Amino acid sequence: MERTFVMIKPDGVQRGLAGEIISRFERKGLKIVAMKMLWIGRELAEQHYAEHKEKPFFNALIDYITSGPVVAMVVEGRSAVSVVRTMIGKTNPAEAAPGTVRGDLAMDTGRNVVHASDSLQSAEREISLFFKPDEIFDYAKVDEDWVYEK
Ligand code: GDP
Ligand code: MG
Repeated sequence: MERTFVMIKPDGVQRGLAGEIISRFERKGLKIVAMKMLWIGRELAEQHYAEHKEKPFFNALIDYITSGPVVAMVVEGRSAVSVVRTMIGKTNPAEAAPGTVRGDLAMDTGRNVVHASDSLQSAEREISLFFKPDEIFDYAKVDEDWVYEK
């Protein structure tokens, strides 16, 4: 099983899409093993998006992600990193396929409602930035035998 980091960005919270987005992951068969609402400060935002520090959109990105509360989650499942990336769709919502979160619910790259880790390595880094080990729960879900053959 893999764990990935998912975050409903401030526009997703403001637009009342948190439940819709969380529900998609639940219905897929993924397991939410950690979740909280928080308002990210600039320091954490800059750490989270460190790979984009030199990009022209960096300041706008930090303003955006710190502009209101977000919902952060750790999502677990088989191949969870790539499954969740597929579910959220391309970075630019105008190019994201219908059926994806961004394809269905967003219009603009700078307001693309959701974040998800792009690799196992990013997932581990991002999870440890946002969650302490005791905020992540190991538990069995009743439907596991119905979601996975084995
Ligand atoms: P992601 O992994 O699909 O979220 O995309 P990236 O890691 O490439 O970029 C991180 C976030 O920066 C994106 O989700 C967007 O919110 C934002 N971003 C990326 N490219 C642009 C851009 O060209 N302009 C603006 N305004 N924001 C961007
Ligand atoms: Mg990224």
